[in-house]
Amino acid sequence: MARSSGVTARRPLRRRQISRWARVPLQLLTRERRPGVTILMYHRVGGGTSRQLDLPAELFARQLDYLRRRYRIVSLDDLLDAAREQPANGTRDLLVLTFDDGYAEMYSVVLPLLRRFNVPAALYLPTAYIEEQRPIDWGRYQELPAALRPRPLTWAQVRELQASGFFTIGAHTHTHLNLTAATLEEIEREIRQSNALLLERLGLRVRHFAYPYGRGSAGAREVVARFYETATVQGFLKIAFARLDPTHLPRVPVSTSDGFWFFRLRLSALPSRSRRHGNGNMPTGSSEEDHE
Ligand SMILES: [Zn+2]
Repeated sequence: MARSSGVTARRPLRRRQISRWARVPLQLLTRERRPGVTILMYHRVGGGTSRQLDLPAELFARQLDYLRRRYRIVSLDDLLDAAREQPANGTRDLLVLTFDDGYAEMYSVVLPLLRRFNVPAALYLPTAYIEEQRPIDWGRYQELPAALRPRPLTWAQVRELQASGFFTIGAHTHTHLNLTAATLEEIEREIRQSNALLLERLGLRVRHFAYPYGRGSAGAREVVARFYETATVQGFLKIAFARLDPTHLPRVPVSTSDGFWFFRLRLSALPSRSRRHGNGNMPTGSSEEDHE
């Protein structure tokens, strides 16, 4: 039809082109103007390995310096307050930094950097590893000899991180169990045990939870909701405040190969969440390498 000549034949083509282009500025406007939050998920920093989830300290510092100028970096508690206030269109986007698993470098590398840039972060702990001082042994760490597996934080270090005011402590089950494959009984035990241990060792009623591997199930979601006010899952979205569901917060994983420039590009190109999700799973793909 496009090749034929004559007024009547060209008209539909022109209409199609106009409607296609008309959609573009609308998408840009809604993305630009609607304030929201991006939640970043980190694992290790300065652990000295070449793994994707172990960022060199210099790269992380460069990212922090960029993020604090571009966003208002807030704690998870502040995010809940901000969500209730429903910030007006045009206000600055919020960003939350989160760390999973409680690697020893949180104390030696990450705390000094958060201090330097004066930004808060959340830290999700699988309590059995801290309690028993078990080197991290799930996922690909299983392949390593025990001596080469990453060390977890000690409770004394966690207490110092907590006292510094830079970290909000969250739960990450007791044994880092994959909740999608667990029975309700196991889920209940894992959540209850880690919650009780965090209270006992830190004197803290923890409000925040992260699903191991970024995934849950309808049953897990029900148990988690009884214990925690927020829960994070794997995702690749900026969340508009109007769509914020604290029990289902998608987090964007950050990998070493993102570097600095691709990291910036990825953040600015993140799609916004368009609807709430009904269960503990995300529609996007996820992998062991993206989430541990
Ligand atoms: Zn984890």
